[in-house]
Amino acid sequence: MVQDQLSQTPIVSGRLRKMSVTLKLLKNLYKQSLSRSGSHAKAMSIIKQVLAKYKDVQGENIFNKATFVDGRYYWRFASPGFPSEAYKIMVNYEIDRVLPDTPQWGLSTVIFAITKKCCMNCEHCFEWENLNKPNTLQVSEIVETLKKYSDYGTTQFMFSGGEPMLRFDDLVQVLEQAPKNADYWVITSGFGMTHEKAQKLKNSGLTGLMVSLDHHLPEENDKFRGYKGAHSLALKAVRFANEAGLVTTLSLCVTRGYCQPEYLDAYMHLAKSLGVSFVQILEPRQTGRYSGKDILLSDDDTQRLDKYYTSYINSKKYKDYPMINYLGYHQRKVGCFGGGNRFFYIDTDGDAHLCPYCSGKKISVLTNTAEEVIKTLQTNHCHAFENTDY
Ligand code: SF4
Ligand code: SF4
Repeated sequence: MVQDQLSQTPIVSGRLRKMSVTLKLLKNLYKQSLSRSGSHAKAMSIIKQVLAKYKDVQGENIFNKATFVDGRYYWRFASPGFPSEAYKIMVNYEIDRVLPDTPQWGLSTVIFAITKKCCMNCEHCFEWENLNKPNTLQVSEIVETLKKYSDYGTTQFMFSGGEPMLRFDDLVQVLEQAPKNADYWVITSGFGMTHEKAQKLKNSGLTGLMVSLDHHLPEENDKFRGYKGAHSLALKAVRFANEAGLVTTLSLCVTRGYCQPEYLDAYMHLAKSLGVSFVQILEPRQTGRYSGKDILLSDDDTQRLDKYYTSYINSKKYKDYPMINYLGYHQRKVGCFGGGNRFFYIDTDGDAHLCPYCSGKKISVLTNTAEEVIKTLQTNHCHAFENTDY
């Protein structure tokens, strides 16, 4: 099955091309730092701080790898494509975060659950108690919320659920009316995706598709997701999305048994063969269907994961493999980026949570301003990691 899925990798390889992309991104960073700070010396100091901060968080140099899809470069999962208006906004709020006496604004990502409907039965589902109840959010409320958070400086919105593909017509309407200065993603199991739907989403303004795949082996993935054929649906969705010019990401929840280099390697080989740009690694959390269950990774497990990640980002062997976005790694190093720092989660009733895994309704996004919501989230702390002022 993997064989007939083989796609060309979108990762930018070749020394000269990589250098040219890096120069473009650095030149842009300098230009925006200069216009924000007003002096060459201050601009250079900003660049130094931004580069150091990035290395601290990710464990690798900035712009180490990039992917090129439909005319734009993506060098980090939470960063919008370059060049774009969204990218400019993101660089401006990151610069303001290192400038002294400058108020923090802007968010990298709002994850927005737009439907309670889903037909899978995943072991780790964090929305388990809310699934398959009537939807409450109207298209107009979703669009108004996007406008509100776009005005606040949010540069990436990710639609989740449930299964957002089960609200396909509404999703298209939302994308058509959404502000144009942000990137939009759909997080899906792959259910219901066709070539035509992927193209329609792309034409309506979608940037990328994140497809959940929790094991490289079909039978193991399907068992975890409680749905026969889930593996095949996921692979097809990736193929349709790539053909439509969408950026593709695989999302993997690494369970205890999966924290082995040979499994992770098999997964990354599959990801490369599918032509995805990113792989997101998540760790199980005791929330939703996993509430009260003994599923947390041990210290040995996370050390093995960290070791795999650092060798992956530093080894030439993986130079044209997808980029890894591994939240747990940087959270353990520098704290949490959820809770309204760089991202937060809106549930299907329009209520804000620190993130999808640290659930607990904090405040309605429908009846409060973005500033009120962010302030409320930032005064709450997560059970798992300290908040960060990064
Ligand atoms: S994790 Fe996602 S795909 Fe799985 S049951 Fe929950 S909402 Fe559905
Ligand atoms: S709020 Fe907690 S669970 Fe959520 S991303 Fe932050 S550290 Fe992780």
